[in-house]
Amino acid sequence: MSTTGSRVEVVTIGDELLLGFTIDTNAAHLARALAAIGMHIVRRTTVGDGADEIADAVGQALDRTGAVITTGGLGPTSDDLTKQSIATIFGRGMHLDAEHLAWMEERWRKRFDRPLPASNHQQAMIPDGARTLENHHGSAPGIWLDDERGRWVAMLPGVPREMRGMLGDTLLPLLRERVAAERVVRSLTLRTVGVGESLLADRIDAMEGGPLGVTLAYLPSIAGVDLRLTIRDVPAAEADARLAAAAARLRARVGGAIYGEDDADLAAVVLDLCRARGLTIGVAESCTGGLLGARLTAISGSSDVVCGGVIAYHNDLKRGLLGVDAAAFERHGAVSEQVVAQMAAGARRAARSSIGLAITGVAGPTGGTVEKPVGTVWIAADVDGHVETKLLRLWGDRDEIRQRSAQWTLDLLRQRLA
Ligand code: ATP
Repeated sequence: MSTTGSRVEVVTIGDELLLGFTIDTNAAHLARALAAIGMHIVRRTTVGDGADEIADAVGQALDRTGAVITTGGLGPTSDDLTKQSIATIFGRGMHLDAEHLAWMEERWRKRFDRPLPASNHQQAMIPDGARTLENHHGSAPGIWLDDERGRWVAMLPGVPREMRGMLGDTLLPLLRERVAAERVVRSLTLRTVGVGESLLADRIDAMEGGPLGVTLAYLPSIAGVDLRLTIRDVPAAEADARLAAAAARLRARVGGAIYGEDDADLAAVVLDLCRARGLTIGVAESCTGGLLGARLTAISGSSDVVCGGVIAYHNDLKRGLLGVDAAAFERHGAVSEQVVAQMAAGARRAARSSIGLAITGVAGPTGGTVEKPVGTVWIAADVDGHVETKLLRLWGDRDEIRQRSAQWTLDLLRQRLA
């Protein structure tokens, strides 16, 4: 499934991070926690405590991504300039948050039995229009600041324990709500083979149960016809549910033709099916000249399934290496059901495998006859001595006919094993 995600940048602030005295564990923790709620950190920046550096880094991140989380620089000391710098980017002034000040005074009275030091008053200064994020683990509040363009910055403390506490208690629940409500574009592709575009469309159009509720595009290629389902501008959770429901209805309708999702490769699907059943493959190819073997062996790890194969163009080779009998050629010709069946059986024997796959056909542009025009291709799958054959009437140029032959042969085996 492809998706537009919720992108965010992280700016960690502190000279000690740049000097290497402190390892930036905040950024790593944020990355894991945000990924778990479906947000992706697209860039991380670390800057020192200078007001200009902070404004630069956060300003650029806002221009790029529009969503920024900072850690550090919220403390009571004069080097803690994060709030002021970021307020300036948003063109906001600062004001004293009386509620937070009262909370801090109360906290000091209870904990230390003395009045709040003057330097701590700065912690209760917040940008105009900002909201505070409660801190149950320290005295500096976190800050949430956004604007009418939807850009936002969440400022968290630098002390890891406080940062993690505030993230879990306050910021993650807030972000989770935003992610769920965020309107997304998502798509899911169901890959089909063996049924033409118009036939698929007829079956799907005649489907009962009303509209699919998603956009459906038919994307034909040599591999088959991809059905791409797309949903736009709905909240993420709803998008997933509606895509899954539409995919389930399509599977119920044309499921036999569907071999995988998104970028699935039919050769890999077939190898997995064989592996799960402990089956091995040998191939015999005439008109595809090794394409089928190449498709299978292009998949890493194929050697535990694929034993090998024979490229048999000349009839003598089909006879000698695959044991096709002379009478079959004479009576039916090299492109025939009898020959392809014997080629598949011969491939299985020669490779000492449980499955033999074979292809023989007229790939063109020359060589076609009235009886067997260009695009006439016989394919066969012999599984443990039981041969199944199929006549294909393919279209396209030589390369397309050869590629389709390999793809449809893989599908013949898939259908057999599914
Ligand atoms: P304080 O209330 O302590 O002033 P603060 O928000 O101002 O908090 P800083 O002064 O930037 O945070 O950092 C406080 C301490 O937290 C630092 O001395 C450092 O040890 C630790 N710290 C800061 N940033 C990080 C980080 N990104 N990763 C790990 N530790 C950090």
